Amino acid sequence: MNKIGVHALTFIGDIENQSIEKCLSQVAKIGYDVMELPLLNPDALDTRFVSKAYEKFNIEPTVSLGLSYKTDIASEDQDRVKLGRELLFKALEKTIDVGSSNLCGVIHSALQKNDAPKTKLGYENSLSVIRDLAKKAEQNNVTLSLEVVNRYETNIMNTAEEAMDYINDLGDTNVKVHLDTYHMNIEENNYSEPIKKIGKDKLGMFHFGENHRGYLGSGHINFEETFKSLKEINYSGIITFESFSS
Ligand code: MN
Repeated sequence: MNKIGVHALTFIGDIENQSIEKCLSQVAKIGYDVMELPLLNPDALDTRFVSKAYEKFNIEPTVSLGLSYKTDIASEDQDRVKLGRELLFKALEKTIDVGSSNLCGVIHSALQKNDAPKTKLGYENSLSVIRDLAKKAEQNNVTLSLEVVNRYETNIMNTAEEAMDYINDLGDTNVKVHLDTYHMNIEENNYSEPIKKIGKDKLGMFHFGENHRGYLGSGHINFEETFKSLKEINYSGIITFESFSS
C-alpha cells in the first residue's frame, strides 16, 4: 500500500507552529499517513516543535521547497547559485531535523516564469549543486526528488523525458523524479507514458491534484489512467494530494 499524503497548504497558509499543529490534527483525523511541509521560510521553522507535533499525531513528514529568482541554482549568476546552494543545504538540514526522509519540489531551479530557454552554464550550475546536495542527502538517508513542472514555472525540466535526461546528466546519484498530475496535464501527451518513462526505480514522489488545483473530481485529470499506471510500474512511494483552493 502506498502512503497517502496531503500538502499542508491544502489547509493552512503559513507554517507557524500553531498552524502546523492544527493542520496535523485535521490531517490525522481524515486519515492521511503523510503531510508535506513546504519550507516557506526555512530559518523560521521550529524543527523541535514540528518534529514532536508530527510524532504526536503519528504523521510522516515530507518536505518541499521551490527556489526563487534570488536563489536560482540554474542561473549563470554565481551569487544566486551560491545563495541557492546555501538555501538547499539549509533545507536539507531542516528536513533531517523534522525527521523526514524526503526532500522534493522545484529544487533544481527557480520556480518562476522564464523569458528564455535554459543555458548550458545555468544547467551545469544546477547539476553541480544537486550532485553535492545528493551526497549529503544520501549520507542522511534523505531522498531528493526533483519536481517536473510546467513551462511557466521552470525551463529546466517540463517533461518526464527532460527529467530523465537531467538524472542521467547527474551521473551516479540516488536523486529521483517527482511527478505531478497538474503539470503533466499541461506538458505531457497523457498520464501513462511519463510514469512508465520514469519507472519504479526513479520515481521518488508523486503529487496528484486537479488541472485547476481545486476540488478533486471537479476537473478533467484522468485519475484512472494515472493510478493504473502507478500500479503497473509497482510504485510503492508516497502519493500526495496538492490543492491550493479552499
Ligand atoms: Mn506539486
